[in-house]
Amino acid sequence: MHRVFNFSSGPSALPLPVLEKAQKELCNYQQTGISVMEMSHRSSAYQEIMDETTSLLKELMEIPYNYQILFLPGGASLQFSMVPLNLLRKSKKADYIHTGSWSKKAIAEAKKYGEIRIAASSDEQQFREVPVLNKMVFDDEADYVHITVNNTIEGTCFHQIPHTGNVPLVADMSSNILSTYCDVSAFGIIYAGAQKNLGTAGVTIVLVREDLIGNAASDCPTMLDYQTHSKHRSLYNTPPSFSIYITKLVLEWLKEMGGVSAIESLNREKARLLYTFLDESKLFTSNVARNSRSLMNIPFTTDSDDLNQKFIEEAKAAGLVTLGGHRSVGGMRASIYNAMPLEGVQELVAFMSNFEMNNR
Ligand code: PMP
Repeated sequence: MHRVFNFSSGPSALPLPVLEKAQKELCNYQQTGISVMEMSHRSSAYQEIMDETTSLLKELMEIPYNYQILFLPGGASLQFSMVPLNLLRKSKKADYIHTGSWSKKAIAEAKKYGEIRIAASSDEQQFREVPVLNKMVFDDEADYVHITVNNTIEGTCFHQIPHTGNVPLVADMSSNILSTYCDVSAFGIIYAGAQKNLGTAGVTIVLVREDLIGNAASDCPTMLDYQTHSKHRSLYNTPPSFSIYITKLVLEWLKEMGGVSAIESLNREKARLLYTFLDESKLFTSNVARNSRSLMNIPFTTDSDDLNQKFIEEAKAAGLVTLGGHRSVGGMRASIYNAMPLEGVQELVAFMSNFEMNNR
């Protein structure tokens, strides 16, 4: 079997033991004689998968008792609508922190439902850093504050979570969930598409503090109301059952790896290796401000588009794939989520170093 190191930003690399377990169980899941893909979502075997996934997530993220864990379809993008539809209930005002392409989409969607203020933005810095929020004053009348904690395309990240007082903080953690310790109680809602650190595309994990459920307007579509999914424990309709099963396998793998604290140390080591090389390199540069550097998505570039292209092609031939930057920014980007082993980053750095020597 020939596997390469896959630096894709999402859907992205899965741990090999997860793929192997899924393969082993594919045709006959735990002596049921059928695949999870063929299983009724109302069966006891499937309920067990849901329960185990929920309890593993609760354990690994230390989720407090007053949060519901929902498994929803529609990607993180659907949360751009569900959040305002469920939370814009009193003042119909919300504060958004604008840090790049994904926050832009979240803001555009929320504007359909209420008065949205850009409370802080790094637009003027071309999103090369995240705004400083420690002295930030949020509108205390706002129904919520929205933050994109890790900016997948720009390669920036908030390393400190702002205090928003009594105003619930809603966080898009699509590209950094479970990568470092997170105090869930600091948030009203946390959401993340599964296709980076949690499994495969199709399911979005939404953690909602219970007091934020049940406030949607009466004309809110049933499927977009958190209460529907909370009441039916994510089984109001057919859930993305196979994706949830893969999430279970990813969480089992993460627990075996030593949980969030162990993966955080590994993630910090991987990022340190790559940033140290970039800082010393005379060919490659990172445009992201040091205090805003993401541990998960690391964009870098040379000063020539032709050389970038050559790098991407030669890296691919060497078994280091999907290193092209997002189409909106160009250059290169290495996404090194939880499933990327240290050896993958070591090989990348060694390849970059050789490439630099040969292309000076
Ligand atoms: N937010 C962030 C931070 C993302 O990285 C992405 C996807 N790359 C999205 C939202 C959108 O996710 P989805 O494609 O699951 O709707």
